[in-house]
Amino acid sequence: KIEIKEGKAVLHIPDPKEYTVDGKFDPAWSPVFYNPRMKLNRDISVAVAKVFSPKTVIDAFSASGVRGIRYALESGVGHIIFNDVDKNAVDLIKENIELNSIPSYEIYNMEANALLDVKRGVFIDIDPFGSPSPFIQASMRSTGRRGLIGFTATDLSPLEGSSPKACMRKYGATNKRKLSFSKEVGIRILIGRIAKDAAVEEKGIFPVLSFYHGHFFRVFVRVEEGATKADNSLEKMGFVAECERCGYHKFSSDPCDLRRCDYCGCEMNVAGPLWLGQLQDKSLLQQLHLEGEAEKIVSKMRAEATAPPFYYSLDKLSSRLRLSAVPSTSDIVECTSGFYTHFDPKGIKTDLSFEKVIECIKKFVR
Ligand code: SAM
Repeated sequence: KIEIKEGKAVLHIPDPKEYTVDGKFDPAWSPVFYNPRMKLNRDISVAVAKVFSPKTVIDAFSASGVRGIRYALESGVGHIIFNDVDKNAVDLIKENIELNSIPSYEIYNMEANALLDVKRGVFIDIDPFGSPSPFIQASMRSTGRRGLIGFTATDLSPLEGSSPKACMRKYGATNKRKLSFSKEVGIRILIGRIAKDAAVEEKGIFPVLSFYHGHFFRVFVRVEEGATKADNSLEKMGFVAECERCGYHKFSSDPCDLRRCDYCGCEMNVAGPLWLGQLQDKSLLQQLHLEGEAEKIVSKMRAEATAPPFYYSLDKLSSRLRLSAVPSTSDIVECTSGFYTHFDPKGIKTDLSFEKVIECIKKFVR
């Protein structure tokens, strides 16, 4: 084992040198999982927990215990419930809890759904391998009347439209083609599944922070009990479609509206059902205090918090229009009175019509 520091936590983790494949460290080979690339996910989660200041956090997939320990040390959460199905992980969590003198905690060696059925938490962290879908419903039960749940999804391929069958299995959504704005389709399909599973438990959801980074999606939703709240959430579900020929896109609660492109009459690729409501709560984003890369991404999210759903990928749109690449995203943002998006460095969002977006692109590209 080696000792490392992350945030305010000191951690013992399995020595990465022993789990190196072809000269590259692969955390999946380690007896207990610790991925330094997920620090940004944890930094943002710790900042969110600090704002909500829940009394108890359930860290349902603790691995080394890094998240729960950081919630105790940096977010000021009074009581942490650690859990991992793997016995090696539980031993390491105990060691790391002692190392950091965490005052109030419980540790379990249970399957996450079984734990969530018997434990109640105001803030629940769902950070499994791959898809969080199998754990959504139990997490909804565990929050009680009001709560906050953070979900990580690393199964980008089904969510982005590269594995349609897996997307149907895990998320109950059609997503047969990778659309130009696939990152946002993915996160909205994930939230759609969360809304549907919450509704089964007669709960409504309010996404307060949602982002994509590198190899994962992370979504925080506030949860409130009540059949009407569940109904209101389901009303924000719908479909999105993109025209393969001209790059036009449109969303609607009714998939029948999306059969043919309003501009060129071509058939469109439809994805959904997915969430069409808000992705961010701007006032929460303004209360987060972060540094470095985490601050960079959160500041982009603040700037796009009030933008309409679905971005245009300028590179993909200009190549569809058989134009050369757009030299500067900022020119198009300005011309369309639009927004940048953290989903794509060459993406823009705007309230203007598709025709106006094309006019702007043509103005700057010869
Ligand atoms: N949250 C950790 C962090 O930030 O470093 C990483 C968690 S890792 C992605 C997933 C962990 O969940 C692994 O340690 C694995 O043993 C555990 N796990 C997998 N399936 C589980 C299940 N059904 N119930 C509980 N734990 C599970």
